[in-house]
Amino acid sequence: MTNSAITSSSLRLAARLDTVGFSDIVQIRNKVMELKAAGRSVYEFQGGEPYMPTPEPIKKAMRQALVENKTRYAPSSGVMELRQAILRKVTEKNRIPAKIDDVIVVNGGMQGLFAAFQTVLDSGDECLLFSPFWTPIKDLIGYSQARPVYVPMKVARTEGITAALEQYTTAKTRVIYFNTPQNPSGEVFTRKDAEAVAKFARERDLLIIADEAYEDLIYDGEHVSIASLEGMAERTMTCFTMSKSYAMTGWRAGYVIASEPWMTGLRKTTLYSTNGVSTPTQWAAVAAMSLSESYFADCRTEYKKRRDLLCHGLSALGLNCPLPSGAFYAFADVTQIDANSRTAAAKLLEAAQVATVPGSVFGEAGEGHVRFSFSTAMETIEAGLESIKKKL
Ligand code: PLP
Repeated sequence: MTNSAITSSSLRLAARLDTVGFSDIVQIRNKVMELKAAGRSVYEFQGGEPYMPTPEPIKKAMRQALVENKTRYAPSSGVMELRQAILRKVTEKNRIPAKIDDVIVVNGGMQGLFAAFQTVLDSGDECLLFSPFWTPIKDLIGYSQARPVYVPMKVARTEGITAALEQYTTAKTRVIYFNTPQNPSGEVFTRKDAEAVAKFARERDLLIIADEAYEDLIYDGEHVSIASLEGMAERTMTCFTMSKSYAMTGWRAGYVIASEPWMTGLRKTTLYSTNGVSTPTQWAAVAAMSLSESYFADCRTEYKKRRDLLCHGLSALGLNCPLPSGAFYAFADVTQIDANSRTAAAKLLEAAQVATVPGSVFGEAGEGHVRFSFSTAMETIEAGLESIKKKL
């Protein structure tokens, strides 16, 4: 093609990106960096990652992999030793009836979710998601040219899960995105909740994309993998990440558990995007999988202290904040500052140097709230609360 053949209509972004937004959370992070670069101190509650460093045995395994030159291409679905370790974990801990062919290693939760939505959704399909929800999900659905349909948690809690799902299901519905513990609210779906969703999916012949990124961070109740329930493994793609459980956000490691035909879709999407996860990272992930349950118990103890300090502190200041059962987010009612959560978050940042994420970023159902992460130092929580008390 010569240059003259290029018309303005060819110099355009692919149309399928029209429905894909750019994360508001990234924009907030940029604003905080700007303030800090201008010399202002900020109490940071906007983040979404563990506050502690990656455990030493994982870092040691990475160094060892490099020493041993484990730096060549690995199978694009993952190193066999890692897939076997994952299989042991999901069968024993999550009780998912999987076999080795049902395991694929991916670059963190995001790639697993991207691959899962790409694997099943077609243009015009609808995907149900409980709202408020983790923002990128609507964009991942949009990337598949499908349509997100929001099921307000408030409706699910007042009218029951089945009645809520029924209201929003149409002939085009194919998937339910099921995230527990939930981001941003920290809400944990109970076994009874999971059973209701599972029954609905079986009866309506729907698929589940389960997101269990925060499975190890539960303070009240239990974690139930929906794929472990009767007849669900065959209609569920379960997305896991090492990011939150092992403080490995920057490593980009995760895995998806699914049977056929979904696994073929997941393998193709992975092969033609990243062609797998960096080989030394996978050997480090093998070491992560062998950490004992006491590691998670210690993390939970620390997070719980932070949760209690932040939530009780916010509630005492009139920003009602129920204790979340899981994850590391507190979703506080800020209508006392402003009914519009973007304005409230801006006031918190400008007046009290407290950075949060406005609830409306997580869907209409999040309005009136802001999300605080309590994955930070106890001193930061104390200082942030003091600053809100004095300046707002
Ligand atoms: N799912 C939820 C609910 C999350 O909150 C996140 C990250 O914040 C992810 C998935 C993705 O995690 P990762 O960092 O591994 O891509």
